[in-house]
Amino acid sequence: MTRAIYPGSFDPVTYGHLDIIKRSASMFEEVVVGVLNNSAKHPLFSTEERVNMLKESTKDFPNVSVICFDGLLIDYMKEHDISVIVRGLRAVTDFEYELQIAQSNRIVSKETIDTVFLTTSIDYAYLSSSIVREYASYGTDVSDFVPEFVAKKLRNRFQ
Ligand code: ADP
Repeated sequence: MTRAIYPGSFDPVTYGHLDIIKRSASMFEEVVVGVLNNSAKHPLFSTEERVNMLKESTKDFPNVSVICFDGLLIDYMKEHDISVIVRGLRAVTDFEYELQIAQSNRIVSKETIDTVFLTTSIDYAYLSSSIVREYASYGTDVSDFVPEFVAKKLRNRFQ
């Protein structure tokens, strides 16, 4: 049984993330969405809020679960018997950074962990959590980019 983890900040979850989750859920027996608990990044939403938004958005996928982790991703993976990392690739600009992380994770894990990249659906190629936060901060409707209940949380946050 192959368990995969999809790590990220998800601040907040977007339709781009949900597309990657849906596609990876049909490729692996189990997909764990891992919310990085990194206070250095000063997220807009707390870890708990980000986890809850992801749980609500993925409740129809029986083989998807949502957790938060801090520390090294590969340590979490070893402890929980997860062997594959899923990442989304939007543009060439994502590539260099992602390649570096994937290769170093492979070496540090003594070649027990692999990274699988899914290319973004063309509909979401432009979309990032930071763009969503930026628009929402000016009161712009972001319901084309995120589920309606997330758009509502953003409206409340910037009121
Ligand atoms: P990070 O803070 O590590 O960049 P994010 O939460 O922004 O994490 O993204 C998590 C993962 O989702 C990354 O692999 C990123 O490339 C991917 N991703 C984000 N937005 C999209 C999108 N619109 N389409 C496809 N993949 C995406």
